[in-house]
Amino acid sequence: MADKRVPFTLEHVEKIAAAYPTPFHLYDERGIRANARRLKAAFAWNPGFREYFAVKACPNPFLMKLLKAEGFGMDCSSLPELLLSERIGVTGESIMFTSNDTPADEFVKAKALGAVINLDDLSHIPFLEASAGLPELVCFRYNPGPLKGGNAIIGNPEQAKYGFTREQLFEGYRQLKAKGVRRFGLHTMVASNELNPQYFIDTAEILFDLAADISQAVGIAFDFINIGGGIGIPYRPEQEPVDLERVGEGVRQAYASRLIAKGHPDLKLYMECGRMVTGPYGYLVTRVRHVKKTYKTFVGLDACMANLMRPALYGAYHHITVPAKVDLPCDTVCDVTGSLCENNDKFAIDRALPALTPGDLVVIHDAGAHGHAMGFQYNGKLRSAELLLREDGSVVQIRRAETPGDYFATLDFGALAPFPV
Ligand SMILES: *Cc1c(COP(=O)(O)O)cnc(C)c1O
Repeated sequence: MADKRVPFTLEHVEKIAAAYPTPFHLYDERGIRANARRLKAAFAWNPGFREYFAVKACPNPFLMKLLKAEGFGMDCSSLPELLLSERIGVTGESIMFTSNDTPADEFVKAKALGAVINLDDLSHIPFLEASAGLPELVCFRYNPGPLKGGNAIIGNPEQAKYGFTREQLFEGYRQLKAKGVRRFGLHTMVASNELNPQYFIDTAEILFDLAADISQAVGIAFDFINIGGGIGIPYRPEQEPVDLERVGEGVRQAYASRLIAKGHPDLKLYMECGRMVTGPYGYLVTRVRHVKKTYKTFVGLDACMANLMRPALYGAYHHITVPAKVDLPCDTVCDVTGSLCENNDKFAIDRALPALTPGDLVVIHDAGAHGHAMGFQYNGKLRSAELLLREDGSVVQIRRAETPGDYFATLDFGALAPFPV
């Protein structure tokens, strides 16, 4: 069972909501730090272990700095993500740049920052060489194809646009070696929101065997292996969080038997999780605006799918807590909606909750990854503020809410007048 209690009291969250109008995203620093330390501890047996936070999950510089202080690197896949990392002082091999269909200017920036560049295709070798020049360290992304089952979010690896086939990897490392590249990495990322710990151990086994085969055939030793991200979180109360210690121990055994026992020198193990790092520690705090009863009961919030689109996008479950009514029976089945003019703008469908009334504060769980980050302005909906609940109980605003001025920022009404219509 996942713990779905919120890390604040009703009084506390009402006080926060009095200072910062709802809706807002609220991140729990204590939870993020404790979880980061647990992940590191599970892999402490590997002296080079590093987690690179997948910035796309929650691209806020305050949270990125907090994770940097916990020793994390940053996993970036676009120019703005590279710039965000640079702005918080994360450069060099503390950045892993994993992209696909990559524009030349992103390779140029990644190379200038000294980031670890992870290529998605054989054709990217000459493309990188021509646009930015080859760095001394290059990594390839492996797509295991039929060797690995996929899941609903990331799909079946054979259908996935990412990565090299096994044969292409051998060819690619041969080319790199011939071109004078001296250090090598191997990466894969095949799962998303996976809750089975064995899945990650299996993936590591595939990568370790592959690295051993490539090392032997091509005559190179790997600097690091990045086993990717994709550790899931228990969105539903009846789900279990991934047992990180079990994953760490299983990967340790595979590392010992499949690499070290075969004579491969020690290498660094990397991960690039996003969701599990911030997801469970972010809450979308919103208020009930209207309750309407037609063919069913609709509870309308002041948040909408622009603040958290996972339910609309994937039919995802997000747990809902009503802090003032946690002791009341969940005897009212309702749809919990936003105000966007799309009928899939619903945070929950047919959810049993305590009877809600306008003004009730509602907390939507597990919004700390792909929550604010996936926000958009469709239908004139504006992105909310982000707040950080510090370990001492104080709150800092780490991103202000958007205003209509932000919505208009890219428009030029001055250019309207001479426009002949
Ligand atoms: C999204 C992504 C991640 C992080 O995935 P999570 O499911 O958030 O752990 C890591 N690597 C790459 C290349 C990604 O695209």
